[in-house]
Amino acid sequence: MMHFPKTRRPDLQNLLDQEARKASGNYRLEPVLAQITRDFHWKCYLCEDAEPTGIQVEHFQPHQGDTARKFCWDNLFFSCSHCNGTKGDKYFPLLDCTQDARVWEQVEITVQRFPKVKLEVKAHPLPGREQVCENTVKLLRHCFEGRTPIRKLEAENLRKKMLRHDIDLADAIRADDEPRVLAMIQAQAGFAGMHRWTLCREYPELWERLCQPV
Ligand SMILES: [Zn+2]
Repeated sequence: MMHFPKTRRPDLQNLLDQEARKASGNYRLEPVLAQITRDFHWKCYLCEDAEPTGIQVEHFQPHQGDTARKFCWDNLFFSCSHCNGTKGDKYFPLLDCTQDARVWEQVEITVQRFPKVKLEVKAHPLPGREQVCENTVKLLRHCFEGRTPIRKLEAENLRKKMLRHDIDLADAIRADDEPRVLAMIQAQAGFAGMHRWTLCREYPELWERLCQPV
């Protein structure tokens, strides 16, 4: 999970307020989508897939029928269908990647390649964020494992994608291709949080060298 501050857009909030007054208002308006995709760099804020085929405008705090929350610009996040469907209205409150600049440090993701591909998610909460961090880790574990037969299949594909990215990172490190490694840990890169943890844990010197401009 990476920090994606949302652009302040009172004009979009005005548009959303107009929609909120309609009987069947729409919060997925084209200008809303355009700004959300820019702010989140086309990445699902939960799984960090930067090329999701199923795209959804997600309510960070579940609206549960509350019109103000449903049409609140600050509450609209970019996610993939898999993570949105997994999250539903459970798990909240969560780490807020639009507010918390140190969000990635609090969620460690490890890929184990052998004997079989396994993902581990661990909490490293900053003081006072223990519960939200724990909730976030629980949700991410469920996103990576799947909770229903269909979601399990989707999660399997997601894990394969993450493994491919992990292998790409290892290749770039082996080739001493530091510009490529640097690109892979930028906020907008797919699975950047996972890559940052791999570097911190396994290549601390390289991380020290690269982390300054990140
Ligand atoms: Zn996702």
